[in-house]
Amino acid sequence: MNIEELSQKILNGDRRALARAITLVESGRSDHREQASALLADLATHRRQALRIGLSGTPGVGKSTFIESFGMFLIAQGLRVAVLAVDPSSARSGGSILGDKTRMERLTRERAAFIRPSPSQSHLGGVARRSREGVALCEAAGFDVVLIETVGVGQSETVVAEMSDLFLLLLAPAGGDELQGVKRGIMEMADLILVNKADGALKPVATRTCADYAGALRLLRKRPQDPEGYPKAMMVSAIEEQGLSDAWDEMQTLTSWRRENGHWDQRRADQAQYWFDQEVRQALLAKLDTSAVRGRMAELAANVAAGEQSPSAAAQVMLAELGAS
Ligand code: GDP
Repeated sequence: MNIEELSQKILNGDRRALARAITLVESGRSDHREQASALLADLATHRRQALRIGLSGTPGVGKSTFIESFGMFLIAQGLRVAVLAVDPSSARSGGSILGDKTRMERLTRERAAFIRPSPSQSHLGGVARRSREGVALCEAAGFDVVLIETVGVGQSETVVAEMSDLFLLLLAPAGGDELQGVKRGIMEMADLILVNKADGALKPVATRTCADYAGALRLLRKRPQDPEGYPKAMMVSAIEEQGLSDAWDEMQTLTSWRRENGHWDQRRADQAQYWFDQEVRQALLAKLDTSAVRGRMAELAANVAAGEQSPSAAAQVMLAELGAS
């Protein structure tokens, strides 16, 4: 594959080239890895940036409906929108969210939209890197907004928040008890809480839920990257396309404020460091994952179980053999 040519096509916004490049970064083959690195390095010199918006919520809360409505809204504003997914469950099942594109029927047909399902069959670390590189490719291809969807389970929210400029938490209308169901750490990550399904018979419950979360947000420590009054909780209806414009106004206000006050650049720099650190850790962990190492680990583990070696003495032996002591 000619990387220079691919790079040029991506910079020209060629969607097929973008799709090919994403396939390349998703490949585990070492020659593909090298090509992917060269491509990403070349594209990075152009320093194009999109607004990266992470979106999390439990299954059924309305993420795909929201992405479709909000995506169409953004396109109507003249913006180009890419949608990617980080799906930790695909690491186990090989399936993926966004895999079923019919969930976003209108958006799929738009020239100004690009939708890519989560890379599958990899551990979360691998999914994270590939998604991050996918985001970089979409930025290089000139998309204005990159939406990164994830399901609200475990680590995936941190992964997405660490590759987003804004992190949205989508919630459903619910009784007060559910408020406790959202972990504090996740509330602390959110830049905007959107209570979806604020329509029809659900509207009164949505109003109460929104007020509850607004109250809960006020109790959190103020973050340096936020102007007064943020993060906020708002109501939307993805189905009736209500509240999208207000939500977008808030996102833009927050973004402009952060850009003007240096927080945008700072956050991207912090994220780059975070990913560097993660890559090193993961590469070290991967060293444990060869059959020779696993065999040796099993031997030492048996010694430890038999009481012949202490856990730390055996660990020292292993580290020495790995050249990491
Ligand atoms: P996801 O699993 O988070 O992607 O959720 P979906 O977008 O698939 O939506 C789950 C269900 O909620 C579907 O039956 C949607 O029609 C419904 N839904 C999504 N958004 C809204 C909304 O704004 N209002 C109402 N009443 N239902 C919605």
